[in-house]
Amino acid sequence: MKIICIGRNYADHAKELGTEAPKEPIFFLKPTTACLYPGQPIKLPDIPGEIEHELELVLMLDSYAKNVPVGMALGLVASYSLGLDLTARTLQNQLKVKGLPWEKAKAWDGSAVLGEVELPMTASTDLQSFAIELRKNGLTVQKDTTANMIFPVAELISYVSRFITIEPGDLLFTGTPAGIGPIVAGDVLEGFLNGKRLLNATVAKG
Ligand code: MG
Repeated sequence: MKIICIGRNYADHAKELGTEAPKEPIFFLKPTTACLYPGQPIKLPDIPGEIEHELELVLMLDSYAKNVPVGMALGLVASYSLGLDLTARTLQNQLKVKGLPWEKAKAWDGSAVLGEVELPMTASTDLQSFAIELRKNGLTVQKDTTANMIFPVAELISYVSRFITIEPGDLLFTGTPAGIGPIVAGDVLEGFLNGKRLLNATVAKG
């Protein structure tokens, strides 16, 4: 099992980072030790600088697949939820400037916060029409629709599978919309999908 994360998949988010919308999907991996399951508190890492939230649609994949055609890619999606791709932003920016890999800023323990899994995909599930929203301490900070993804889910799965074999249990974080921001001890983060709260995590104190 692995965690595949897509970068810059919403134009407004690429803009807030001061970067251009990508021509091809950007992806990176987090290890399984990054998973933080529902009910567990977020523990801030011992990394200087800002730690930021990125709310994302997360897909659970359940088949082995390599070089999946776009038209068959959604067949790999078993279920879905929301997640937070927590990012040590100050460190990530330093790594970017030096052209170094992002793992130290992205792959730390507990950096992949998972929501409650929504029931399995059905023939009528449209992954590109979900309203997603993150509230921090009760205030909406990220709000968008998955219709605004630059690369839709089927293209993401197909693209990644050209480079890496998809395995049962893999998670795909599909990128964050605009509105990223810092988290601090005591913050309460709630993620909503089509108005239903799937994610509820508190940042631990101390
Ligand atoms: Mg992200």
